Amino acid sequence: MPDHSVAIIGGGVLGTSIAYFLSGHARDPGSIVLIEQEQNIGQHTSSRNTGKVHAPFLYDPAAKKTFAKAAALGYEMWLKYSEYKNLLFRRDGVLEVALDDKGTARLGKYMQWGEANGLKRDEIKLLNSKEANELEPNVRCVSALYCSKDASVEYGALTLGLMEDLRSFGCKLALGQRVDRISRKSGEYSITTTGGTEITASYIINAAGGNSMDVAHSMGIAKEYSDLHFRGEYWQAPPEYHDLTKLSIYSVPKHPEYPFLDPHWIVRADGRREVGPNAVPVFGPYAYTWRKNLADMIPKLLESSRTGARRAVFDRQFLSLASSELKSSLSKRAMIARAREFLPALRASAFTKRGTSGVRSSVIDRMGKFVPDTIVMWADSSVHVLNYNSPGATGALPMAAKIASKVLDEGTVVASDKPKSLWDATSIAADMQ
Ligand SMILES: Cc1cc2nc3c(=O)[nH]c(=O)nc-3n(C[C@H](O)[C@H](O)[C@H](O)COP(=O)(O)OP(=O)(O)OC[C@H]3O[C@@H](n4cnc5c(N)ncnc54)[C@H](O)[C@@H]3O)c2cc1C
Repeated sequence: MPDHSVAIIGGGVLGTSIAYFLSGHARDPGSIVLIEQEQNIGQHTSSRNTGKVHAPFLYDPAAKKTFAKAAALGYEMWLKYSEYKNLLFRRDGVLEVALDDKGTARLGKYMQWGEANGLKRDEIKLLNSKEANELEPNVRCVSALYCSKDASVEYGALTLGLMEDLRSFGCKLALGQRVDRISRKSGEYSITTTGGTEITASYIINAAGGNSMDVAHSMGIAKEYSDLHFRGEYWQAPPEYHDLTKLSIYSVPKHPEYPFLDPHWIVRADGRREVGPNAVPVFGPYAYTWRKNLADMIPKLLESSRTGARRAVFDRQFLSLASSELKSSLSKRAMIARAREFLPALRASAFTKRGTSGVRSSVIDRMGKFVPDTIVMWADSSVHVLNYNSPGATGALPMAAKIASKVLDEGTVVASDKPKSLWDATSIAADMQ
């Protein structure tokens, strides 16, 4: 008999949320183990992001169906959880600005998507340039979309909150254990970590974030996909800019089919202001520094030469956008200039401190195209969550409920009659359909 019914690989906001729901519903929560390579959970993308609870107007309800549904449900769930744990949740709203006619047409689409994804008429509004200016006098644009149902939180703190709860339910945590090898014999997984520890389980949930593709490949899954990594960097705004706007300001992305967003003007949950993120191509999911990036270079180049990533990288448009991202990484002036297009009062010389960077990992198909939605791949006694990018943190609780509910339905974990989580996983999963 294996030691555990389920082993969850990855203690980011997603893996921790899955562990929260599974152990909160299990008759024997001690049969579930959450494995994290770091000494604490939520150390990577889950605490290295913009901290927005994104309103779902940005997501095409057809092409990004799962993200759209999860983001739509995520708002109320994070609000309830933040109140329950007494953590920051600031409903501060967002202004999405168009800088040309093409951008205005895109805002029209966002309005349709927002309504289709459940935003109410009084929560989302198209504005002309004058109306946008009345709302935010320092912003320049040709039109804008204002959404009041957008909030700022600290996902790292929320993830730690979930960890406290799942620990109190009785879930096991294996911290500081990097999964190195996975083998399977007679229906039992043997997971060996770099320290040499062996963890056995009947079922594996792969929620390893930027590393989930490598974990899936090591189990012979998702071989038709590969991934590329992009470092998002920020600059912290000095206090003199704190009253420049009340709202976060996002500009309509010029190339939404690529993972290159234009840097935003961000209002953080604790009131700080920042400019970012850009999306600089890097060689690994933890390439926060140039030294680490170089260490990952050779293996990633070898892998990319064999997969669809090669086609993506040699696409002319990709190369041109990537070089502009690289420029904004090397030059503060180039980065701030991108935000000055809609906030002309910003001066690059006033920015002296970088913010915390984070890496997003985008999945590429065989044809070299970026996959728009997240991929949840169910295999025999394992499930793999790939391409879990923004708004991944916003949607982590409903996504986790959906996955936990299916694992419970399959009977891998025996359900208790008295769930301890704040929500019933099955009813959230039904809302995700
Ligand atoms: C710059 C940036 C800005 C963003 N802004 C937002 C935003 O404002 N709003 C939003 O909703 N989303 C945002 N996102 C996306 C969001 O942060 C991610 O979708 C989310 O954090 C992903 O969570 P995760 O748990 O899948 O990954 P992670 O947080 O990366 O967690 C995966 C965990 O797996 C562990 N792990 C990996 N491999 C192994 C192994 N072999 N053994 C053991 N453990 C392992 C890692 O150490 C890590 O802790 C942003 C992302 C970036 C990069």
